[in-house]
Amino acid sequence: MKTILHDNVTTREGELYFSNVKVTDIIKDYGTPIFLLDENKIREHINEYKSAMKEYFGEGSMPLYASKACSFKELYRVVKSEGVGTDIVSPGELYTAVAAGFDMSKAFFHGNNKTDRDIEFAMDSGLGYFVVDGLEELDAIEKIALRKGIKQKILLRITPGIDPHTHKKISTGGVDSKFGSAIATGLAEKMVKESLKRYAVVLKGFHCHIGSQIFEVDPFIDAVEIMTEFIADMKSKFDFVADVLNLGGGFGVRYKECDPIISYTENIKAIGAKLDEQCKALNIKKPVIYLEPGRSLVADAGMTVYEVGSVKSIEGIKNYVSIDGGMTDNPRYTLYQSPYTVISVNKPEAACDFKCTIAGRCCESGDIIQEDVMLPKVERGDLIAVLVTGAYNYSMSSNYNRIPRAPVVMVYNGTPRLAVRRESYEDLILNDM
Ligand SMILES: *Cc1c(COP(=O)(O)O)cnc(C)c1O
Repeated sequence: MKTILHDNVTTREGELYFSNVKVTDIIKDYGTPIFLLDENKIREHINEYKSAMKEYFGEGSMPLYASKACSFKELYRVVKSEGVGTDIVSPGELYTAVAAGFDMSKAFFHGNNKTDRDIEFAMDSGLGYFVVDGLEELDAIEKIALRKGIKQKILLRITPGIDPHTHKKISTGGVDSKFGSAIATGLAEKMVKESLKRYAVVLKGFHCHIGSQIFEVDPFIDAVEIMTEFIADMKSKFDFVADVLNLGGGFGVRYKECDPIISYTENIKAIGAKLDEQCKALNIKKPVIYLEPGRSLVADAGMTVYEVGSVKSIEGIKNYVSIDGGMTDNPRYTLYQSPYTVISVNKPEAACDFKCTIAGRCCESGDIIQEDVMLPKVERGDLIAVLVTGAYNYSMSSNYNRIPRAPVVMVYNGTPRLAVRRESYEDLILNDM
């Protein structure tokens, strides 16, 4: 048995296995293109976060699954069964979570533009927390909560001024973000002052999210430092005690062999140590800590399988392998040249001596999944797999060119089951009058 990139993708006697199921067997039942999602892997990640956060942050701390990474009913049910929370960024995600029976008191509603209707809908669904982005939203929540006669819990989204990709604090960094209220401009302080004046709004603490696909722990340590200093500052200025500090998501995931292997437990341990040190030094109450992992819970639990339709060699220039999916199920290379590992499903152990570009089927030259991939020689009818597609693939999928969305098949303890069915042509015209 050989492992490819992550331990849920293996080869045995020339056959490719995903989460211990022969991939060609799943394809026989469900066809291509298809998203496979390893439920055991998702639960494994959730449990790593859960136990590390309990140990290093203390009781009450937990991960909130950032469901924009991948949102459909069955996934909210899995998250619910693990007893953790979720973060949602739109009324559509909220609706999906409600439809799945999610405990909405553990849901956090993000976004830089929530309409009055969104706010009302969320309150009627029993939403736990709004993560308030700015002053207008605060006013809208106050007004609607007053009308409904409820007290609404909120966190304030704070921009701490950290650029995770330069690995150091920059005093103005993040100030230009469309999200949240910056500490540096004084808006964050103003938001606290305004929140405390409101009658129907209960300020519980603060949120920050510094970025995504971050392999180092230092930017998170910086975030703890800045956010705890802000908590201490708000305590001295307004006598406000923060119960909650939500540090957002962003831990990195291995997409290719060259990416580093990181330990989420070690990161959490380092963040916890900094938190304890800061709380002591600043003499503040230790808040409950939430993290919002999206990618790191679901990315390596996913794999997409396609059928090859053509192999076109442009002499001396490049070889195109065209597949029956593309930017409609995975727009990430088109959007930001994201790296992916591509393998052969039929010949997973064969020598990879054929350099090619994997092209989607859309009428769009930029519809590329990956360039300069090394595969064994492939031909029409072969299957190829793109690894680590659990995050920001299905959730970013579209119907461009009227291509129906691929289904999602979840595998749990060696048994595949349909979690999202393949879209039909009838689905495509459902809203057409
Ligand atoms: C996108 C996002 C996350 C998740 O980020 P990952 O990199 O997928 O872990 C968490 N919180 C907020 C507010 C986000 O916008």
